[in-house]
Amino acid sequence: MSILTIENVSKRFGDNEVIQGLCLDVKAGEFVSILGPSGSGKSTIFNLVGGLLTPDEGKIQLQNKSIIGKNGSISYMPQTPSLLPWRTILQNVLLGQELQGEINREKAIEMIEKAGLNEFMHSYPHELSGGMKQRVAFIRALLSPQPIILLDEPFSALDELTRIDMQKWLLDIWDSHKPTILFVTHNIEEALFLSDRIFVLSHRPSHVISELKVPFSRPRKEELLLKDQFLESKRTIHFALKGRDSV
Ligand code: ADP
Ligand code: MG
Repeated sequence: MSILTIENVSKRFGDNEVIQGLCLDVKAGEFVSILGPSGSGKSTIFNLVGGLLTPDEGKIQLQNKSIIGKNGSISYMPQTPSLLPWRTILQNVLLGQELQGEINREKAIEMIEKAGLNEFMHSYPHELSGGMKQRVAFIRALLSPQPIILLDEPFSALDELTRIDMQKWLLDIWDSHKPTILFVTHNIEEALFLSDRIFVLSHRPSHVISELKVPFSRPRKEELLLKDQFLESKRTIHFALKGRDSV
């Protein structure tokens, strides 16, 4: 069953035509990535799905109901973790639930412990490293009751090693909870390592130039990053993106 469907969506800002005829869908329990160059409108897609912007054309449906212009229907993790500095880690994690009026404190505590942040439960965000803050923001998104989580390049500001650790952590959580995730990235490797399906976007005005079902079984281990089949898929996507470049 599709949780989210985007059909023929277009969006422009004045003369800047950012998205044109975009179609994609995310099914229940799926990990889907949108992969596109910087400036191709990925964050704009998130803002459209999150109801912060409205499309000029097209449909956006969550569980068969239009969510155009409606916020609060999806769980959203922006590009920077945006934790509230005056709230402790536990209080920050509980925020998504508070906003939706459903609090499960035990679950929050359990998730924080599983993320290895036990000793930071009552600390404030400034006491945590970048990777730790990302974990907190992700746990908050995961515990919010909405049916889909949107993640906008959550790891792009992290150094390479921390990023791989975070990807492994995310895969681990995903394997045990199977939340429905729509993930945005400009990193081919990251999309391949994490996702079930990938939608590759063109440059502006962006649309889907290729949809790829990721062939690797789960659970996935770091070694996968160096396997021939992985590198081959990486090349395929690289050329899909490049092919469009040279038109
Ligand atoms: P990406 O996330 O793929 O890097 P964005 O969605 O942030 O791309 O931006 C795509 C284009 O849309 C850029 O040219 C950007 O300047 C423009 N844009 C994004 N949001 C707005 C806005 N609120 N008002 C005007 N232009 C915007
Ligand atoms: Mg962006």
